[in-house]
Amino acid sequence: MKTVVIGGNFAGMTAALELKRKAGKDHQVVMVDKSPLFLFIPSLIWVPFGRREIKDISFKKDAILNKKGVDFMQAEALKVDTKAQVVKTNKGEVSYDHLVIATGPKVAYDVAPGVKEFAHYIGTPNGAMKTRKALEEFKKDPGPIVIGATQNAGCMGAAYEFLFNIEKWLREQKIRKKVDLYWITPETFLGHFGIDGIAGGETMLKSFMKMFNIHYRTEVGVEEVLEDKVILSSGEELPSKFTMLMPPFVGVDFVKNSPELQATQAGYIPVTDDYRHVSIPNIRAAGIAVDVKLTFKPGKVPFSGPKTGYPSDETGKIVAENISRIIKGETELKKKAWGKIPGICVMDAGKKEVIILSNTLFKPRKFAVMIPNVIFDFSKVLFEKYFLWKTRHGLSQLP
Ligand SMILES: Cc1cc2nc3c(=O)[nH]c(=O)nc-3n(C[C@H](O)[C@H](O)[C@H](O)COP(=O)(O)OP(=O)(O)OC[C@H]3O[C@@H](n4cnc5c(N)ncnc54)[C@H](O)[C@@H]3O)c2cc1C
Repeated sequence: MKTVVIGGNFAGMTAALELKRKAGKDHQVVMVDKSPLFLFIPSLIWVPFGRREIKDISFKKDAILNKKGVDFMQAEALKVDTKAQVVKTNKGEVSYDHLVIATGPKVAYDVAPGVKEFAHYIGTPNGAMKTRKALEEFKKDPGPIVIGATQNAGCMGAAYEFLFNIEKWLREQKIRKKVDLYWITPETFLGHFGIDGIAGGETMLKSFMKMFNIHYRTEVGVEEVLEDKVILSSGEELPSKFTMLMPPFVGVDFVKNSPELQATQAGYIPVTDDYRHVSIPNIRAAGIAVDVKLTFKPGKVPFSGPKTGYPSDETGKIVAENISRIIKGETELKKKAWGKIPGICVMDAGKKEVIILSNTLFKPRKFAVMIPNVIFDFSKVLFEKYFLWKTRHGLSQLP
């Protein structure tokens, strides 16, 4: 028996290692990933400011995979033939008995004209390094800045983190007074985060905006980005010498080019609460590739929900557990809908942080708290160090 895991970062790395650990040596696990590196994406927000280099937050994953008995194939999956049970890649075909799709997102830069050309994006190593270069130039001749998320975006947290980090960087460069700093978001209120907010969150973010003199616009989309301004859906034009936007995420081309997967319009895999494809029993999805039904009331401008690291790791674990149960002949599978997974997240606010904890990601919740820590962003650093340590050692069973 053989399981092929496509994508091997947060969700796929956990799924592959956990499955190998649980299913044993008679079960072959093959990971297909176009990237040879494991990348701790949350720390990319620090790369533009020189607080991290890409090498500090990534490592080559083949050694640990081989040590733990997972075969690694560095290739791009192009398409799946679900009847023949074969994945076509740019380096040949791979057959499977079980398939796990953990391919994460593709960034939809085409959300509005000019986003790709004139706005920076910090969610890839290349984008983060280009942003670093642009900030070095900006420093020489500062002006207004626009940071935010576009319509349909879901990863608002990272954009908030970048906002507070850039504000702090401007002060360190002694150019803060020369910069009008704007935050734009499709959220109906500050701190909605695509999870309908957390008690006290809006008040806390409003006070941060006031304290750091950041102008903000909620319930706005981006009509167009130009070299020197951002035109909002409200018609307002904000002058900008440096723009960083979080565009929406959609499913990757592999999913979109495989019509048998019956992906949603956005390119995500429809699954049941045990992360099995709704109609193809030997295909599962984990992490961002999963279609998640949102529960909050939409506002004037559409936006989406976050698919963060903790649920990505959790769904990787659930998928591995369920495949190992099936191999052992068990019929009862582990179930946990995405919205029922606990919320555990740290928002860096520029050497300060807010810890967000809730018993479930989506409402209704029994408890949800936001704990500010204004002394240092200790928890975020700890999260980074812990996650990189655990993954480097292949200890996927740890939380
Ligand atoms: C800037 C930023 C900051 C963030 N900060 C936080 C944070 O502070 N806390 C938090 O919890 N979450 C954060 N997140 C979210 C977190 O990074 C994601 O939840 C997590 O990476 C999702 O894991 P995943 O495995 O689904 O996708 P990914 O981590 O994106 O992994 C997908 C993998 O699939 C591979 N792949 C894609 N297509 C193919 C293909 N066709 N063939 C082969 N391989 C393929 C890719 O190479 C990649 O290795 C942040 C995200 C961003 C962008």
